[in-house]
Amino acid sequence: MGKVFAITNQKGGVGKTTTAVNLGAYLAVLGKKVLVLDNDPQGNATSGLGLRKSEIKKCIYDVLVSEIPIEEVILPTQVPNLWAAPATIRLAGAEAELVGMMARDQRLRRSIEPVRQAYDYILIDCPPSLGNLTLNALAAADAVIVPIQCEYYALEGLSQLMKTLQLVQKYSNPSLEVEGVVLTMYDHRTNLSQQVAEEVRNYFQDRVYNSVIPRNIRLSEAPSHGLPINLYDNRSKGAEAYFELAKEVIARE
Ligand code: ADP
Ligand code: MG
Repeated sequence: MGKVFAITNQKGGVGKTTTAVNLGAYLAVLGKKVLVLDNDPQGNATSGLGLRKSEIKKCIYDVLVSEIPIEEVILPTQVPNLWAAPATIRLAGAEAELVGMMARDQRLRRSIEPVRQAYDYILIDCPPSLGNLTLNALAAADAVIVPIQCEYYALEGLSQLMKTLQLVQKYSNPSLEVEGVVLTMYDHRTNLSQQVAEEVRNYFQDRVYNSVIPRNIRLSEAPSHGLPINLYDNRSKGAEAYFELAKEVIARE
């Protein structure tokens, strides 16, 4: 059975896209068939996977708003077993356009239904908000993976995210779960990182993955080369951490 994970946290810059791209890449390296679905108008996952946005004619916008089959937008990536459903800036229009539409929060769920079984994992990279695009991702997902940056204010906004998840459970997706919490940009030299990690573990308990993603320069360089970390620097600390995370995600099944 294919598993659909929404990678979500309404805070920007916490590592959602980095996690979608690199967790996706290592799940693929481990032999899983993976689709990274870029649900953020910024399209960072799309370019991080090496796809040129200027050359993309149809994207998730057309799937959500014009209801074209998702198969028409899915593209292969440089990593075997890893595909992408790209986003371009046109997707920004969907946030408002969805408002007047029927079943506006169910459209992504319906769109991915035909391909759900074709993949072992579908990872949906969410925008930094709790608007219509994120609500669509939450309605489509089996579970959420929440990246939390090991910085001050990390926990701020999480209660709002949890409230949103409860509302989605109540009104549109009763079986939605928190699959896991990933600690990102961890700096082992600072007390702050340790404190935040401890607080997050107190709050989410065993939902927090043992694999912690360190702050690692190679992870931040890789997207500018359009490469997931396994192709950019397979031996970096960041690569090792995402490889471990991928193994842990598979082991949790
Ligand atoms: P989000 O998708 O939540 O907005 P990103 O994944 O785009 O966050 O990360 C925000 C910025 O931080 C990006 O420039 C990214 O390259 C960088 N970054 C993400 N994770 C790490 C990390 N573990 N170490 C160093 N830089 C990181
Ligand atoms: Mg992002």
